[in-house]
Amino acid sequence: MADYSKFLKESNLIGGQWVPSESGATVDVINPATGEVIGKVPNSGASETKRAIDAAQTAFNKFKRTTATERAILLRKLHDALMDNQDALATLLTTEQGKPLAEARGEIAIGAAYVLWYAEEIRRAYGDIVPSPLRGRRILVTKHPTGVVGAITPWNFPSSMLARKLGPALAAGCTTVVKPATVTPYSALAWGVLAEEVGFPAGAVNILTGSARAIGGEIMANPIVRKVTFTGSTEVGKTLIRQSADTVKKVSMELGGNAPFIVFEDADLDRAVKGAMAAKFRNSGQTCVCTNRFYVHDSVYDKFVGKLAAATSQLKVGNGLEDGTEQGPLIDDTALAKMDEFMNDAREKGGRIVQGGKRHALGGQFFEPTVIAEANDAMQVTNEEIFGPIAAIFRFSSEEEAISKANDTEFGLAAYAYTKDLGRAFRLNEELEYGLIGINEGIITTVEAPFGGLKESGLGKEGGHQGLEDYLDTKYVAIGGL
Ligand code: ADP
Repeated sequence: MADYSKFLKESNLIGGQWVPSESGATVDVINPATGEVIGKVPNSGASETKRAIDAAQTAFNKFKRTTATERAILLRKLHDALMDNQDALATLLTTEQGKPLAEARGEIAIGAAYVLWYAEEIRRAYGDIVPSPLRGRRILVTKHPTGVVGAITPWNFPSSMLARKLGPALAAGCTTVVKPATVTPYSALAWGVLAEEVGFPAGAVNILTGSARAIGGEIMANPIVRKVTFTGSTEVGKTLIRQSADTVKKVSMELGGNAPFIVFEDADLDRAVKGAMAAKFRNSGQTCVCTNRFYVHDSVYDKFVGKLAAATSQLKVGNGLEDGTEQGPLIDDTALAKMDEFMNDAREKGGRIVQGGKRHALGGQFFEPTVIAEANDAMQVTNEEIFGPIAAIFRFSSEEEAISKANDTEFGLAAYAYTKDLGRAFRLNEELEYGLIGINEGIITTVEAPFGGLKESGLGKEGGHQGLEDYLDTKYVAIGGL
């Protein structure tokens, strides 16, 4: 097993110093596969956060004057450092989060890819010179780093969700105050170790662990913070948007999803099953783009259910650090209890459990990968984000019906559809109210494309050239008397 001891930081990073919480209080970090305590991190609050914000502001006053090339060089070094430490970082990630090691390695790689992408993109963050309506005047549109950025991240991708925020923020010349999820803090603290190692100035990356309410509260209330970027639940996201109003901060929000996965009568069923397995069971179903509702055409329903159940029965459940594991534990007992609730509800409302359906024989926080056939709109799984390894399969009989059901939610993050009809593919692109659409593909996230939800799934984009815009302010200058 790769040695991750250098990344197991048990302190906050504030202004280049690794420091404990002011009260000395700590929070235990638990391995979800074994229940063992991995270590302790500071239980910090508003006062430490205020110090971190001040340190970020001091650093910003210099960092904003660096050139795009200087920042690109630092980011390239950060990318290389991440990849040089891929095994150690992945092992640490699996240990605190539970996902299979192969997925954790992939997460480190995609995180590094975001960093490299923004190292490249910032060198092309052009402004505009606009034709002037008046003689003797020139109009310039220029871009400037927004300022101190607060970044609040979730536990399901504790490393790459931070990459999506630190990459563009640091590329743009912003400095940051990071608050990782309390259950997975080490993967975030590791970014502090590497940022220091490759030479980012003290205060460019500050990281605090502890009370979400207190740290988040200070980040939201403090006027120095000009932008907040958050990935997490819609409920918390809405609170943060409300809190942002008092100081009129820019916000970007990656919130919950309720992804439909539509299998049309002309779909390549084997390809659809392969995509379905990836779109449903990655990270044991704990991603915001995971399929929540499968809609399958009547004429291929039984075939698809049979194939999906067969593939699901083959998934190897276990500790993510063990060879061959494909499904790790759920993050905590609350998540496990939620799966029980979904299953009881589905059983009561006429669902047919084709595969799995209960807590796994391994005990602990493991749940069986599950397939429910004959799902219907009265079930909880229709409207709530499952965030676990339960595939609920609904029927439909026309394209219109499938699209209307797919859109019948307040969420609008990811949608998937399998069809060989090109015209239909374009209709789906137009009709599906989703920010990310996979046609004949179950995994579509890539650094080159903008990731972000519509409706109540979020605001703003991460990835693509669009991902930089959130960290840059646009100014217009009119130069007259020429
Ligand atoms: P999840 O369901 O993924 O845990 P949450 O929205 O609960 O999503 O948490 C995502 C992140 O938001 C975590 O870092 C969590 O600590 C933080 N968080 C939770 N509540 C608040 C809050 N009231 N203010 C600021 N951050 C919060």
